[in-house]
This record gives sequence, C-alpha cells and structure tokens, in this order.
Amino acid sequence: MRTPLVAGNWKMYKTVAEARHLVSEMVPALQSITSVEKVLCPPFTAILPVSALLEGTDIKLGAQNLFWEIAGPYTGEISPAMVKEFCQYVIIGHSERRTHFGETDQTVNKKIHAALTHGLIPILCVGETLEENEADRTFEVVFRQVKSGLAGVEWGEGTQAGENLVVAYEPVWAIGTGRAATPLGANEVVKQVIRPALAELFGERNAQTIRALYGGSVNSDNAAEFFKETEIDGALVGGASLKAAEFIQIVQAAAQ
Ligand code: PEP
Repeated sequence: MRTPLVAGNWKMYKTVAEARHLVSEMVPALQSITSVEKVLCPPFTAILPVSALLEGTDIKLGAQNLFWEIAGPYTGEISPAMVKEFCQYVIIGHSERRTHFGETDQTVNKKIHAALTHGLIPILCVGETLEENEADRTFEVVFRQVKSGLAGVEWGEGTQAGENLVVAYEPVWAIGTGRAATPLGANEVVKQVIRPALAELFGERNAQTIRALYGGSVNSDNAAEFFKETEIDGALVGGASLKAAEFIQIVQAAAQ
C-alpha cells in the first residue's frame, strides 16, 4: 500500500563535477527500478546541475535543509520557495543539524510547516542519542520528536495524502558509525512509537498511509533485512549513497 522510498543524503560531500559523475553513474540503473521512489539529496551547490541531469527521469530531488521564512535578510539561508524551484523533498531535523546547528523540536516544527505550505514533502528525522538509548528513553524521545515536529499540521493542509509526509527513524548512535540498529528493533520503534504518534496527530487510518524510513549505517549488505520488516517502507541512506553501486543495490533491495 505504501510505495517504498529510498533517499540518499549526500551531506556535505561532492563538488559539482563529482556530483555530475556520481549521478551519471547511477541514473540508468535507478531508472530501470520503477517500483521504488528514488530521491537524491545533494548539497545546495549541486542541486541545479543535478536537476539538469535528472530531467526526464523519475528520480526526484531533495534538499538537506531549508529556512522557514519565504525571503528576507537571512544571510546564508535558503527559503522554501528556492528549494521548491528544483526539489520535491526536503530533509528536516537531521540529527547532524540538531547537534551542530542548534535545531530544536520548535525550529524543526517551523520548517515542517514551511515545507508543507510550499508543496514540499518533508522527511522528518527523529531518533535517540546513545545516552538516551542506554537510559531506555528511546520511545519517549522519539514520540516527543514526532509529536512536536508535526504539531499543528492539519491533515488536508499540505498533507492531503500520506505520500506527502515521510518520517525517518534514525538513531543518532547508528548514523555514520557502521553500527546499524537491528531491523527488528527499528521496526518496533516505528510500530510502537512513530505510528501511534502519527495516529494521535492524524487518526489511525491516515497514520497507516505515511511512509516510515530507517536510517543509520544502511548499506548493500544489510538493506534487504530492513526492507523485510512490515513497518519499514524504505531507507534514508548517508555514506552508502555516495557510491553508485552501493546505492543502486540498496534501491534494488527495496524493489524486491
Ligand atoms: C544519514 O545521514 O541520514 C545517515 C543515515 O547516514 P549513514 O547512512 O552514513 O549512517
């Protein structure tokens, strides 16, 4: 019922020349996989050249961040309208932004509203730190992040359908560490925390239509195990999305 989605978060990697090279290596194989939605999220400077290479394909573009104001004296920021010129998706609340750039549940919530208002599909990232995990606070933290990140979002105002909103469960301790969560453990967080939080916000039936991704050290060896889980609808991939062969294999695994 939910279309699988695999998004590649390139983080702060790839110059324009490197981005062009990576995309041209990926496009033919990715295009042949039609049952999975594929999203590339390059750094801002590579979005325009990558969008030119993706023209005429079914591969979508996402930004890694945005600011909530539409325009104004905000040096260094990118508005939702600017993102919308090229992208369909936007990653919001990635743990690296929460950790290094002071993003909070409140600023994440403003960005979610800005994205939805401008017709962008937010990929809301949630996940506990190692310390929170070891203190058995995973459920409480993830529940709070989903509820506050999406506070005030009305079903039918931007989220007319479940496809217009994506939640990625990304335990902070699994990101870039090579230590992925267990597929069963990630599935439990989606089942016991993320979907119930979404159900409180939007009702049980609508909650079932929203895609939930897993992210954190996904690679071509472990991806298939995550995709076997009933609640996991795809992946947000960091490091492995920077290598064409790896990313293609992950998308292939999602198509199985
Ligand atoms: C990410 O950046 O969202 C991520 C999951 O990174 P990695 O796959 O490298 O752990």
